[in-house]
Order: sequence, then C-alpha cells, then structure tokens
Amino acid sequence: MKYLLLIGDGMGDWPQAALGGKTPLAAAETGNLDFMAQNGTLGLARTVPEGMPPGSDVAIMSLMGYNPQGILTGRGPLEAASMKIETAPDELVFRMNLVTLGHEGDSHYMRNHAAGNIPSEDAAELVEALAKELPLTEGQRLFSGVSYRHLFTWPGMKPADVPSIPPHDFRDQEVSHLLNDPAAKPLMDLAKASWEILGSHPVNRKRGAEGLPPANSIWLWGPGLRPQVKTYQERWGVTGATVSAVDLIKGLGILTGLERIDVPGATGWLDTNYEGKVKATLEALEKYDYVVVHIEAPDECSHQGLLDMKLKAISEFDSKVVGPLLSAMPRFGEEFRILAACDHFTPLELKTHSAEPVPFILYSSTVGELKPSGLTYDEANAASTGVLVDPGAELGHLLFGQEK
Ligand SMILES: [Zn+2]
Repeated sequence: MKYLLLIGDGMGDWPQAALGGKTPLAAAETGNLDFMAQNGTLGLARTVPEGMPPGSDVAIMSLMGYNPQGILTGRGPLEAASMKIETAPDELVFRMNLVTLGHEGDSHYMRNHAAGNIPSEDAAELVEALAKELPLTEGQRLFSGVSYRHLFTWPGMKPADVPSIPPHDFRDQEVSHLLNDPAAKPLMDLAKASWEILGSHPVNRKRGAEGLPPANSIWLWGPGLRPQVKTYQERWGVTGATVSAVDLIKGLGILTGLERIDVPGATGWLDTNYEGKVKATLEALEKYDYVVVHIEAPDECSHQGLLDMKLKAISEFDSKVVGPLLSAMPRFGEEFRILAACDHFTPLELKTHSAEPVPFILYSSTVGELKPSGLTYDEANAASTGVLVDPGAELGHLLFGQEK
C-alpha cells in the first residue's frame, strides 16, 4: 500500500461577496480534488485543538496523525530539527526573525517581518555579529538559517514563561506596546540590544544605500521544546518522506522519522516548482510507503488578502500537484490511499489563520473500501456530510489503520 498526504496550506476560507457567496475552494477549478471527494470520504477534521493557536505547525501535526496537544509548544524546535540541530530536552528554541522596525518619534512599527527577504549570506553576517555582541547568558545559542529565518536557544527557560508574538501578525502596525510588554521583557530586552549592533552594521548600510529595508532588529517568537514522539515506523510500520519548501514541515517529518526531500525551486509561492515537487514525490514513492506533499501558496495569498491569487493557487494545487499524482499512482502496482486537506483556514478577510475544523478528503484506490460522498470538495459540502474527525490526529488512523 502507498500513502499520500496532500496539503494545500490555508485553502479554507469564508464565503466571498465577490464570488456570489462562494468560498475560494468552492469557486476555484478543482476537478481532481472533486473527483476524490465524490468517490471517497468527505468531512471535517479539527486540526487545531481547543485552546491551541491555529498555526501551521499545530494543524499539520494533526493532519500527519500526531495530536499536538501537550506535545507541541512552538515551531522553534521543528525548525531546529529541519536544520539537523540537536537541542537538549530543556533547551527552549525560538524562531529568530530579522525584521525591519520603523520609528516615528517614540513609536515603533513593524515595517517588514522578513527584513525584505534579506539574502542568506548577508543575514549570516548579521547573526554572527549578534552572537558576538549581544549580552548573552550561559548556554544561549544563535543559529543562522535561510533569509530572515534564524534560531535562538535558551536553556532553562520554559515555554510558559514567555509569550509567542508572531511578527507577521503585526505587519505595518505599531508594536511599541509589544516592545514594552512586561510579560515579554526578556525577549524584548534582547530585541532592543540588537538595534545598535544591527543598525550600524555594514550589511545594513549597504542595504540602506540600495533602498532596501534594513534588518535592524531581531524578533524572538514560536518558543518550544523538542516534541518527544514515536516515528511512523514505530506506530504503523510505514516509511516516508516530506516534500515541502517550509522548514517546520521538514522538521515535523524528521521528528517522526521521515526523510526531508529538498526540491530545487520550491519557493512557497505561486512560482514554486510544481513539476519538481511531483517528480520528487514519485521518486520517493519508489523507495518509501508514504509522502507528505505541502503547497504553501494559498496561505501566502490569503495573508496578503489577494482573492484572485488565492483562486489561482488553489486551482494550481489541484491541476499541477493533485492531478498528476493521482494519475501516476497506479504505476506502483499497489493499492493506494490519499488524504487531501488544508491545514487550517486563512480567511482573506482576516489575513491570518483561524481555528475552525477543515474540510478533508480520504480517497482509496480499493474499490468498495469507502462509501462515495457524491459531493465536491468545499467547506459547506464537507460540513453537510456530518463527518467530524476530532481530534484531527485521528486522520492518521483513517489513512494507515490500526497502530502496531
Ligand atoms: Zn499562514
């Protein structure tokens, strides 16, 4: 048996007046997803447990069949895993963004949560300067990653001791109150200490001269301890891989025993290398039982509030990823099951994630294994079936069956 998990990040949405009351998922061309929904199980899954933030880390862990509740405390350790960085059980790992803060009088603004997507080489120089000059305490470590995305570790600090304030939730907003929030003081003190080091750095002087946003502050968020979980091999006797542009998915894969496959040109945007991802998935299925394929673009379009682009991202997920994989699966000469879903809603109206249960499809090549829903893939049809998988991690049992 071969298994696929196909994730269109942030596809779920609310009805749009501009679409005559349809959601983007209902309005977009999705013939392949519709085929699987009509001929398989369609329903809703609660991928974000009550009380947890609706992050992709939480939601995708659920889609992958692992309940994040009590296990997942932040995305930091997932990114560390994807970078093959070993962290101690008591070492709190933060995502450290390089960001662009703007100043007007005494007020501070989050001008760019990604420091204008600063090139990795320039960012590495800044992280090196920070590692030397920040007033670090015993055991704190910095690791430079890709573009604006880096890591900071803090042994002995607990996830509950500090808030997680995602900088992308405050695009172009004033952040003075956050910088002065007593609960976040340890993090904001470090951010403030970074200003002098970064502001005068040659990399930022060069960026200024070129009219690019300076990487003039760090921003620590997403703190967590390394989740302790069994692998797919241990739970279901299944081997596999991840195909994604996104670090936290690669990290979830590594923690659960999946190989991390990097596809050249996988960008997380509409210009991603869809053909390369499909090819890498099929090559991985020659060797393994299971592949997680993740497409980020619908989520990015939603964060930017771009309806037309979101429709395009959803129909490209369908025509360039789902369709080619569905038609290629018979080549392995084995029965197969496909779980397709979005991880969470990213309503265009909110420009950020929300926590309602997501529509999912379970499709099986085995005739008669599943009762056909007869319905196309969208939020309302999924709700109308009355199927609610809660907790969403139970999807793992629908896909793979009983655990060993
Ligand atoms: Zn998102």
